[in-house]
Amino acid sequence: MPLIPKASYPALQEPAGVAWQREMQTAFRSLTPLLAYLELDPALAPERLSADPAFPLLIPRGFASRMAKGDWRDPLLLQILPLARENQEVAGFRSDAVGDLPSQIVPGLLHKYASRALLMVSHQCAVHCRYCFRREFPYGDLPRGPEAWEEAWAYLGQAQGLDEIILSGGDPLLLDNRRLERILERILALPSIRTLRLHTRLPIVLPSRIEPGLLALLGAAAERMSLVMVIHANHAAEIDAACARALQALRSTGALLLNQSVLLAGVNDDADTLADLSRALIRNGALPYYLHQLDRVTGTAHYEVEEARGRGLIESLRGKLPGYAIPRYVREIAGEAYKTPLSG
Ligand SMILES: *Cc1c(COP(=O)(O)O)cnc(C)c1O
Ligand code: SF4
Repeated sequence: MPLIPKASYPALQEPAGVAWQREMQTAFRSLTPLLAYLELDPALAPERLSADPAFPLLIPRGFASRMAKGDWRDPLLLQILPLARENQEVAGFRSDAVGDLPSQIVPGLLHKYASRALLMVSHQCAVHCRYCFRREFPYGDLPRGPEAWEEAWAYLGQAQGLDEIILSGGDPLLLDNRRLERILERILALPSIRTLRLHTRLPIVLPSRIEPGLLALLGAAAERMSLVMVIHANHAAEIDAACARALQALRSTGALLLNQSVLLAGVNDDADTLADLSRALIRNGALPYYLHQLDRVTGTAHYEVEEARGRGLIESLRGKLPGYAIPRYVREIAGEAYKTPLSG
């Protein structure tokens, strides 16, 4: 049974090559054109850059357009700029810092927390965040092609105590609508699942992905189970008018919108910046959910903020914002039953 009657949503039948896919094709994939666009002279970089990093550079033009020209300290640029320091070994920073690999039940399926399981349905992201906790994840080992997922569906069909499935990746919204529809149909057919959650950065970094075909799919899913969308913005400057429209459109599907951020040195490690982010999110109908302490993944040490300072920042936020605008400050500790709260 198709999730929605095809005739009512012509956008779904459009051939590949829709606007957002074309936009991905023009994304920045190397340092030189990005720096030229930002009017930055590489010779004047405040520290040594990494021209050809193992985790490649990737930035959609729309996201780059929100960066200030000529500013090495721009908080959006700092999230995606590959530094030579990424290649330094730092004690305590490892490739599987959050213990994802042992919770992998079958390839592509993480069942770490009792009531919810996470499917890594996409191998790709639209942007490469240098601090990413999955930058070292062996995506190459994930199932490819629909048949390869049968083992995961079989597990989900019999797992006890599960009522929520999280689509993650990579970014699940980089799948095209047809692929996504097939996955949603499988999830809707699982009797115990009441909530579908998507973890995606696309409403922020590629808002053109929130197009009518996708909205139709999400709307149809939201009629059958609760739909939660967890977006990812770290700084208010990431949310421009196109993002605001995308978030508004997502709300109209009936989805509950939440945001997760990572506490990042130089990007958002001060109380006013975090307060502005919370205000921008609330204005656009997304509740601040998590502020993550950086996972200690190889190559990310330069982003780390001490936990004690993180706690202090949350305390300052309490003096500035209503309770619903304060994110939960958490850290992921391998082997724990949930993300550990760092601030009460
Ligand atoms: C973070 C995470 C979840 C979701 O945790 P919530 O606390 O429910 O947001 C689920 N599975 C894995 C593997 C995770 O890392
Ligand atoms: S969008 Fe998320 S998963 Fe993708 S690189 Fe950024 S932090 Fe990592």
